Amino acid sequence: MKTIFLDRDGVINQNPPDWGYVRTWEEFDFIPNTLKALRDLTENGYRVIVVTNQAGIGRGLFSEDNLKDIHSRMLVDITNAGGSIDAIYYCPHHPEAGCECRKPKPGMLMRAAREHNIELSNAYLIGDSTTDIEAGQRAGASTFLVLTGHGKKSYQHYIKATPFQRPDTDTIGNRSGRTADEGLARSSKYRPEKIFTNLYAATRWLLKNDT
Ligand SMILES: [Mg+2]
Ligand SMILES: [Zn+2]
Repeated sequence: MKTIFLDRDGVINQNPPDWGYVRTWEEFDFIPNTLKALRDLTENGYRVIVVTNQAGIGRGLFSEDNLKDIHSRMLVDITNAGGSIDAIYYCPHHPEAGCECRKPKPGMLMRAAREHNIELSNAYLIGDSTTDIEAGQRAGASTFLVLTGHGKKSYQHYIKATPFQRPDTDTIGNRSGRTADEGLARSSKYRPEKIFTNLYAATRWLLKNDT
């Protein structure tokens, strides 16, 4: 059985404006076609696990009970649409708490792998942030970036980080007005394997090509 790890905010539901947090169910808004994507993944035998940073709890902006309420309602809608989520892992800690679970650390994926007997090299992570991609890659999963949520910003980051495959070639350095060293300095160690417009598009690709 293949496992898909999904980030939540920006992949399943819309991100609130200004990098805010979803604090209540009223603020939770499914991204179009997400429910269809989850149904298709479920019907095709994928195990779906959510891994989400929820530092708003550590910041005192909402409680763990608020989060559990949001997740139980989210699961009702997903189930009613024919999909299923096998588990939800969240990091409630403040970004400066130094925990092992907050992405970009791979802690939540490693724990899920232990608890659900997942072969990470056979798993996918789909996220909208560079921290998702890093966590997924550090865990050994294949990683897909989606352009919903903060995805477009992340995409820009990857373009700037390594504008070309080989930043050490002269012509490219000249054309971009930068030296090879600058290109290398911005190179990013972690990069998504594929980029899709949204979760539904990623799902379509998986169902066609992941055999
Ligand atoms: Mg996100
Ligand atoms: Zn944590």
